[in-house]
Amino acid sequence: MSLPPLVEPAAELTVEEVRRYSRHIIIPDVGMVGQKRLKNAKVLCVGAGGLGSPTLMYLAAAGVGTLGIVEFDTVDESNLQRQIIHGQSDIGRSKAQSAADSVREINPLVNINIHETRLDNSNVMELFSQYDLIVDGTDNFATRYMVNDACVLLNKPYIWGSIYRFDGQASVFWSEYGPCYRCLYPEPPPPGMVPSCAEGGVLGVLCASIGSIQVNEAIKVLTGIGEPLVGSLMVYDALEMTYRKIKVRKDPNCAICSDHPTVTGLIDYEYFCGSVSEEAKDAIVDSTISVRQLEDMLQARDRGETDFLLVDVREPNEFDIVRIPGSVLIPKNEFLMGNALEGMPQDKPIVLHCKVGGRSAEVLAVVKGAGFSDAVHVGGGVLAWVSQIEPDKPTY
Ligand SMILES: [Zn+2]
Repeated sequence: MSLPPLVEPAAELTVEEVRRYSRHIIIPDVGMVGQKRLKNAKVLCVGAGGLGSPTLMYLAAAGVGTLGIVEFDTVDESNLQRQIIHGQSDIGRSKAQSAADSVREINPLVNINIHETRLDNSNVMELFSQYDLIVDGTDNFATRYMVNDACVLLNKPYIWGSIYRFDGQASVFWSEYGPCYRCLYPEPPPPGMVPSCAEGGVLGVLCASIGSIQVNEAIKVLTGIGEPLVGSLMVYDALEMTYRKIKVRKDPNCAICSDHPTVTGLIDYEYFCGSVSEEAKDAIVDSTISVRQLEDMLQARDRGETDFLLVDVREPNEFDIVRIPGSVLIPKNEFLMGNALEGMPQDKPIVLHCKVGGRSAEVLAVVKGAGFSDAVHVGGGVLAWVSQIEPDKPTY
């Protein structure tokens, strides 16, 4: 799908700019007008890490007039294997400052806005509203859903990329013309299911492969040339050396970009993504069962062969939407306040579950800490139960 240019052209290019960008200007599809659009463009890059490095460097070199950098981290030695915007002498420095220095060295004509802050609900809308387009180089799900929702609410194009080991994905989410990130991934993966690059590793050069696609798409959207990855997911396999383009449709039931959204403002993304504490991570080791195991246990319980207490730790309204048969509702807070522990049985094991596994992991840590050492929780929660055991039941 070709789209109109996002940005109006700047009034003029200086002689210096014409000299610098001549290899762009002589491409008929770009031309003087396309370069003037880039000059007028304001692009915000979320993160100056693996994807942010090549993204910022090529956007700067291309002559994007204003570049924003949101980053609060400092440069670590282990970053240098892939985050090529930083160098040896930058170790320990602010990544935002280090990235800005590199951008200035590549192209002093670029205006740089440094936002040395952690992007969160309190600043994301105000920050995004200052830019035409958002390029996302973050690697955590809570931030991704927040970036997506802010972009949908502000109607900004969102250039997304993700990398892991030898695999990369990229797309352009723009709810005015196509699907958003939630249309593709309505629910975050269960906590701990998808390891980060820090946990699982990443081939350094993969950042360049995916970052360059993001820049490519940003330039197309800004100048209105070609067909951007709106409604398409690019899947790259560095080992097979294949690029596959997969169609992504707008989800008519999307929580935020459909005609009847259930999400109409920013939400608690840490909670939504079930980010869990260190205690919970420790508690679930060797104490996590699958929904299939739970199904077997429930059948054995029905036959009178075993007994256990299945506790749903979600909220009552969630329990009303969908529940696992034979569960009892005791919301997480009842455990955190301590008053639910008195009612726990001493003579049979406790099985905990929630929506995706984050809250039940937290409760598991509390319950085990209170001496119920044989307690377990259900990985993937009620959503995994519905998708694998009772697919006709509703999800949310
Ligand atoms: Zn959507």
